[in-house]
Amino acid sequence: MQPNLPTFKDVSKAAERLKGVAYKTPVRQSRALNEQMQAQVFIKCENFQRMGAFKFRGGFNALSQLTPIQQRAGVVAYSSGNHAQAIALSARILNMPATLFMPRDAAPSKLAATKGYGAEVIPYDRYSEDASALATQFALAKGVTFIPPFDHADVLSGQGTAALELFDEVGELDALFVCLGGGGLLSGSALSAKAKSPNCKIFGVEPAAGNDVQQSFRKGERVRIQTPITIADGAQTPMVGAITFELIKALVDDIHTVTDAQLIDVMRFYAERMKMIVEPTGCLSLAAAIQAREALKGQRVGVIVSGGNVDMARFSQLLAQPSP
Ligand SMILES: *Cc1c(COP(=O)(O)O)cnc(C)c1O
Repeated sequence: MQPNLPTFKDVSKAAERLKGVAYKTPVRQSRALNEQMQAQVFIKCENFQRMGAFKFRGGFNALSQLTPIQQRAGVVAYSSGNHAQAIALSARILNMPATLFMPRDAAPSKLAATKGYGAEVIPYDRYSEDASALATQFALAKGVTFIPPFDHADVLSGQGTAALELFDEVGELDALFVCLGGGGLLSGSALSAKAKSPNCKIFGVEPAAGNDVQQSFRKGERVRIQTPITIADGAQTPMVGAITFELIKALVDDIHTVTDAQLIDVMRFYAERMKMIVEPTGCLSLAAAIQAREALKGQRVGVIVSGGNVDMARFSQLLAQPSP
């Protein structure tokens, strides 16, 4: 691995910074699921994290390391959802001004939550404008710090603390399934897995409609695709990050894909059987584990549920479709 990449030490330090600030989320099991899989499945519930997703971990880890001068100046980020809320809440806790570029058509609940944390929201058009360029220009013009959603050492190190907690709680695992967009959660989780459970196989899971990371992984170089059409809106990234991809290439065993129909089945399972609201992107990991159940028989399997932020109207609309 390249010498300048983040290591497990960075994840451990992030865990120290997050102590007493982020929640230690529960790890749950379902007897019905364990029976169906003939395996022991440990579900790490980041849908119960502050602001409803793991992204608080990376956001707070990054912001808490800015200098006092940088903190006074403030931060800017762009996001269609959870990263915006993570930065807005972290900035509020640290008493910093925050500006978020969010798509005009972002989920109303996510827009409201971000504004509710006191951040300034600037709408943009996701089909005609480049949000990353807008945020970078804004940072230069205003002298504020830009925090990208995944391709950042402090962000991904913070994300890795969820898996660290999982291993600390349940011990070593045979396999770990992680939801995958730009790769912050997967690369951070992989750092924790390699340190805490060296024999654990690590799988990233992305929507079949947008398998850019699977293509990149097979090719050994980053592949860019059109913004995929999928209900997994947290995984609509057109290309994996540069830093995250280096870690994924070095540490991850494979990338799996699942369809939107599989995500809806898992969403229904979480709601009916486990009484949990999980957003479509958060269902990627379990959908892939169920898909791979033959290979997982008799194993101890970790599944990271990444988040639970979904508008209730959307949630009920998705679940109203009859199960096959
Ligand atoms: C951001 C996000 C992801 C993807 O995370 P990456 O670090 O970009 O791979 C998955 N699930 C949810 C709920 C998210 O908010």
